[in-house]
Amino acid sequence: TKKAVLGPLVGAVDQGTSSTRFLVFNSKTAELLSHHQVEIKQEFPREGWVEQDPKEILMSVYECIEKTCEKLEQLNIDISNIKAIGVSNQRETTVVWDKITGEPLYNAVVWLDLRTQSTVENLSKRIPGNNNFVKSKTGLPLSTYFSAVKVRWLLDNVRNVQKAVEEDRALFGTIDSWLIWCLTGGTNGGVHCTDVTNASRTMLFNIHSLEWDKELCEFFEIPMKILPNVRSSSEIYGLMKISHSLKAGALEGVPISGCLGDQSAALVGQMCFRDGQAKNTYGTGCFLLCNTGRKCVFSEHGLLTTVAYKLGRDKPVYYALEGSVAIAGAVIRWLRDNLGIINSSDEIEKLAKEVGTSYGCYFVPAFSGLYAPYWEPSARGIICGLTQFTNKCHIAFAALEAVCFQTREILDAMNRDCGIPLSHLQVDGGMTNNKILMQLQADILYIPVVKPSMPETTALGAAMAAGAAEGVGVWSLEPEDLSAVTMERFEPQINAEESEIRYSTWKKAVMKSMGWVT
Ligand code: ADP
Repeated sequence: TKKAVLGPLVGAVDQGTSSTRFLVFNSKTAELLSHHQVEIKQEFPREGWVEQDPKEILMSVYECIEKTCEKLEQLNIDISNIKAIGVSNQRETTVVWDKITGEPLYNAVVWLDLRTQSTVENLSKRIPGNNNFVKSKTGLPLSTYFSAVKVRWLLDNVRNVQKAVEEDRALFGTIDSWLIWCLTGGTNGGVHCTDVTNASRTMLFNIHSLEWDKELCEFFEIPMKILPNVRSSSEIYGLMKISHSLKAGALEGVPISGCLGDQSAALVGQMCFRDGQAKNTYGTGCFLLCNTGRKCVFSEHGLLTTVAYKLGRDKPVYYALEGSVAIAGAVIRWLRDNLGIINSSDEIEKLAKEVGTSYGCYFVPAFSGLYAPYWEPSARGIICGLTQFTNKCHIAFAALEAVCFQTREILDAMNRDCGIPLSHLQVDGGMTNNKILMQLQADILYIPVVKPSMPETTALGAAMAAGAAEGVGVWSLEPEDLSAVTMERFEPQINAEESEIRYSTWKKAVMKSMGWVT
């Protein structure tokens, strides 16, 4: 049969905390042609611990590639048109594996995991010089969130990891490194690399010199030999070499040429290339990033400084201020899996719609402590303001409102740090399919919320980086290349006074969630 000719296509692996996706875009129009998604299991072996199986993550990538290729064939699209592949991924999540056997030496320790609380306390007692030692080099506060303390924990607690390091068999990586190593051949010549955006979340990377920092590695006692090579976010890292299955194997030899942590990828996918442009992504957590251009801006209000992107070996690095919220979509998943008041995430909208208000109920989902702007590990989740009248619909509504209030807190911090308030908020991520959430967000921020019709901006950003790489050159990063993307707007509908009252009650609830763990 005759196959439709479309011009060059670019694939993107989007490995998130909740699920894995593979998506294929037309590089001429940014149109999404086909995709497949598989949910990822999360294990909670102890209170506060969150793990995932690196092999399951890898298999989910193969499955998504295979199913997407099948769908393309059904659409009569020739998969040999795929000219490059980009990778975007959940950040900070830590894998250590054996380079001889190709086997992970422990489960992936997920960014949300709290097991390193005492590791952090011990380390903070012996920070050399002033307290700014870690922050000034990395842009990050010393917290359970980042990879360095997770690696430290693995070295201290997992005999296999220690042994593999001693025998020079251990490799460390965030999910991007693990996947790229496997997809470029694994034990058969796999490339051990990461990009500057992912490296900037390990707490071992100097965001000024763009190199692993020797003093930080000494402080955390992490051997530099296990670290991946740091590359730009857009260059050919290696070629696909997988024997796993026929269909996934059809991409053999295609360059992997884009790599960005998910939040950086979304910033690129939303075309936030100019100083002051920002986006907020609603996934498992919620992450507001504002491009600060080539300047490294340090926050006075609890935001992180992070590498936004570096789109080519010889291109300049761009930085961002970031407001990170640990729990957003995860609270909806919790209502589904732990309380069973919904069967699927999208049912939350139906429940919330039935009442249209939380009726004074507030839900602070501080399951992993509070991230920005508080950085308070002692906080735990609370539901308060309950009466005999409260039902599951009110709790559902309060859960959605919590996501909006948390965003308001980081937006306020961002406005204070940047000086110029945002006039509207560009959004994306799995939760933005929820129209009630979007309307509530506009009401609570009191500015319009703008959502692209194609919500997969994380994958789009990774595909753009891959397609634009030197030696690939099928994507130019100009706005007209996004002609397939249109926007949906949500305008504030309640009055500002009502919005302020609700917000101040939320802050009262946040205060009650703090200091729970001593
Ligand atoms: P990640 O990139 O972190 O894997 P996604 O962007 O895929 O996350 O979003 C998935 C999250 O969004 C899940 O936590 C899920 O509970 C939540 N979610 C998905 N659909 C909806 C919806 N219609 N309403 C509210 N939450 C939703």
